Amino acid sequence: MSTLRCYACDREAQSPLVRCVCGEPLWFDIESRAVNWPDASSSDLWGYADLLPTAAPRGLAATVGGTSLFRTERLDEYAGCHVWLKDETINPTGSFKDRGSAVGVAWASSRSYGTVGTVSHGNMAISVAAMAASVGLDALVLVPADVPEERLVHAAHYGPTLLRVEGNYGQLYTDSLALGEEHGAVMLNSDVPLRTAGAKTIAYEICRHGRVSPDAIVLPVSSGGHASAIWKGCRELQAAGLLDRIPRLLLIQAAGCGPIAAADRDGRETVSPVEPAETIAYSIANADPPSGTRALTAARETGGTVISVPDDEIREALDRLGTRTGMSVEPASATALAGLRSLARSGRIDPEDEVVLVMTGTGMRDAAGATPDVPVVHRSELGKWMDEAL
Ligand SMILES: *Cc1c(COP(=O)(O)O)cnc(C)c1O
Ligand SMILES: [Zn+2]
Repeated sequence: MSTLRCYACDREAQSPLVRCVCGEPLWFDIESRAVNWPDASSSDLWGYADLLPTAAPRGLAATVGGTSLFRTERLDEYAGCHVWLKDETINPTGSFKDRGSAVGVAWASSRSYGTVGTVSHGNMAISVAAMAASVGLDALVLVPADVPEERLVHAAHYGPTLLRVEGNYGQLYTDSLALGEEHGAVMLNSDVPLRTAGAKTIAYEICRHGRVSPDAIVLPVSSGGHASAIWKGCRELQAAGLLDRIPRLLLIQAAGCGPIAAADRDGRETVSPVEPAETIAYSIANADPPSGTRALTAARETGGTVISVPDDEIREALDRLGTRTGMSVEPASATALAGLRSLARSGRIDPEDEVVLVMTGTGMRDAAGATPDVPVVHRSELGKWMDEAL
């Protein structure tokens, strides 16, 4: 059985729908003797169901994970080391977010909830809406009031309730967790324990492979949920004696919005919000990351670092991924390659290092379907709205 615990103060908690009383995010702890490699026949993340807080669902959510990991020599010179790619773009909705969403909807439906939700207008919105549809749950997707409706076409395809929320959108992360608990909706926000549990299977899959024992894993970071999950997965494997040493976690942000990189550079213990500027890496532009401090801790504890890279370097890396690997990823994912190149050039990566880059999201979304018509509510009225609607 798994226990909810805070990485920062070690307190145990009961509900996976809230944060620790100290303010930091929780995650599910498992008993390390429970960790064993599943048999090779399972090719999705549910092969690791014994290490997850819920059993496998049916339908599309049961097929998430088991993505490919491959060596790509044609990037070595550009990146400055031996490059491996973990291709999360082949998940059902094209990003690693499906892992957390699948675990989230499985947990929610096994406990007879009727609604899951999220605060997102990007990959997480799409993923939660699709995974909810796959198990027959309703999805509530809270988007900023000013988001152009054509940006919601992909999420709308899966039939969620889309709601434009006025007022401070950043604050909605916290509000929605509390309101969701109160109104019986499981909010699958960026770094909640159910999402972290799903995404930690990326670390299992990388280390399981056996063909590579990475010196470092590189990922683009925004809320810090993904980075926390990779760290968690590696820690569990190490505690179980299945991994000798945890790879350095190299976390990359866009220069336009790099609160975690700024905290690392300034030697601070905690991450504070920044004023965001424009970046082409729109999926990693969280100016007030809810797991920022946990991600910073992950980088430091593993001997890694957090840096930020400018948009022109992200654009160049995006081009190299297309022309030298055949991959179509979104700018956020290319940020990892740009960051790796920068670290290698400054001598912080050795040319002989084996490095895994997580390709977090696809570049192949084309516009489809009709532009949805989305109602508007003020943040302060959201509880009232939920009373009537849920
Ligand atoms: C969500 C997302 C990220 C960032 O993950 P966090 O858990 O928020 O740090 C990176 N890349 C893509 C494509 C994403 O959708
Ligand atoms: Zn705590």
